[in-house]
Amino acid sequence: MNYKDLAEKLIPNLEKRNFEAYYCDNKKEALDKAISLIDKNGTISWGGSKTLKDLNLIEVLKENDYKLIDRDSASTPEERDELMKQGLTAKTFLTSSNAITEDGILVNIDGNGNRVAAMCYGPDSVIVIAGMNKLCKTVEDAEDRVHNVAAVKNAERFGLTKTGCSKGKCVDCLSDECMCSYVVKTRRSKVKGRIKIILVGEELGF
Ligand code: SF4
Repeated sequence: MNYKDLAEKLIPNLEKRNFEAYYCDNKKEALDKAISLIDKNGTISWGGSKTLKDLNLIEVLKENDYKLIDRDSASTPEERDELMKQGLTAKTFLTSSNAITEDGILVNIDGNGNRVAAMCYGPDSVIVIAGMNKLCKTVEDAEDRVHNVAAVKNAERFGLTKTGCSKGKCVDCLSDECMCSYVVKTRRSKVKGRIKIILVGEELGF
């Protein structure tokens, strides 16, 4: 089955969980869709994400004078931490998801916890952009994906050396570099439509 057909089966399962869901054929459409969902009058924060980078979304927002809470603009660790805390009450929070099950559950790992915290509560609107390569059959498959695919690739991206996945396979580590301090399943959105999911018919992110 192609990505579009898979998305058509997935979207009702996302909607029954109070998520808004959209399908875009490609990155350009997804970028336009994300921008259409952002309130330009409110602040915007985001979680670390290869998908957001692939879309160039943050750069586009910067060029168009959106009100960004950008932790990477901090000049000290303390300032960065403060910006991450402010991000928890942004109007809009942007992220991807490490995995999505066919039944519509989002599965995410997080080392610091700020990304999954904002997905759970705080920002009025959460926009999740995910390539259809993140789709997994079951929660067990999704958990395997987040530890043995997403984490392995992120360990390489961040140059980690102390986690098991930096050597190719999750060993359920408790390293100080661990990217899995928090493993969160988002089963539904308490507030209908607060979490908006843009599915993209291309391989994106990890
Ligand atoms: S080895 Fe550690 S950081 Fe890597 S996936 Fe497993 S628990 Fe996460």
